[in-house]
Amino acid sequence: MSNAATIPAEPVNYFEAYPEHLPGVLHFTCPRLHATLTLASCAARHGLAQGDTLGQFSACRNCAIGRVHATGQQATLDRLSKLGNSGPMAKLCVRCGHQRDRRVGPICISCYNRELEAKKGCNAKGKPPVTYAPLRLRRVGLELPNGEIRWVLFEAQTWLEPLLRGLKAYPGAKLYDEQPSNDSPWNEEAQRFEYRDEHDQALAMEIERQDDHQVVRYRPALSGELPAPVVAPVSLFNPGFVTEWLRVSEEGQAIGKEWRALDYGCGACRQGVMQARRRAGQLEVRCTGCGMANTD
Ligand SMILES: [Zn+2]
Ligand SMILES: [Zn+2]
Repeated sequence: MSNAATIPAEPVNYFEAYPEHLPGVLHFTCPRLHATLTLASCAARHGLAQGDTLGQFSACRNCAIGRVHATGQQATLDRLSKLGNSGPMAKLCVRCGHQRDRRVGPICISCYNRELEAKKGCNAKGKPPVTYAPLRLRRVGLELPNGEIRWVLFEAQTWLEPLLRGLKAYPGAKLYDEQPSNDSPWNEEAQRFEYRDEHDQALAMEIERQDDHQVVRYRPALSGELPAPVVAPVSLFNPGFVTEWLRVSEEGQAIGKEWRALDYGCGACRQGVMQARRRAGQLEVRCTGCGMANTD
């Protein structure tokens, strides 16, 4: 599902709710409380939520929009994404999606140990690790702030990983949910899907190493050259849709009490992924980038 075209660039829309009585006082519609608030009242609720032990303000406690309003500023995409690199989001393990204090680089200590065991070929009990999914190159499409579309490969274990690592490697970039070509037909002879350009020419990929990832450039394949593999693009969804999906799917049964990041990008800001948890039997879903949220 892609509805990026119909979604405003900024996650929060500010407006004068009462131009006659409160001229110049900006309001916004809070996606968590489904209420029209001023920046000041949102900031106040956010402040109260920090010391709230009765759970009255729990919806406001970890709200990214509230955190920006508490600084007296408007919650622009830019400010929200900077926030995403600090606070609880900084603790996000890019591999398993859990929030963990103890981390080695971008992954948590437990994912790190699993990776070491897999490299050594045995676990702490001296047995070969059986459940470890090997690292492999996974692609993410990014739209850079200058509009350039960049295809990037990360050596990753999960589909979540290239999304989070891609957003981190390219500050200000947005997840891109389309393919390198509009056409990717089945090649009967070769028994594979291929990307084809407008001249029906198969596309190959050229790879260039850069820091911790590889940059891919798609171009027409030379004769005898292997065409680029066709892989799934990023899925962009809104919190409401993800809540519905988790309610009916097997994936939802694995959601526990702790926030866990999922491999769905946010259709609103395209600069975060969906996180979900289950509290008192209720599913909660939010975006790590803009904080847009949904409660079952
Ligand atoms: Zn982890
Ligand atoms: Zn978002």
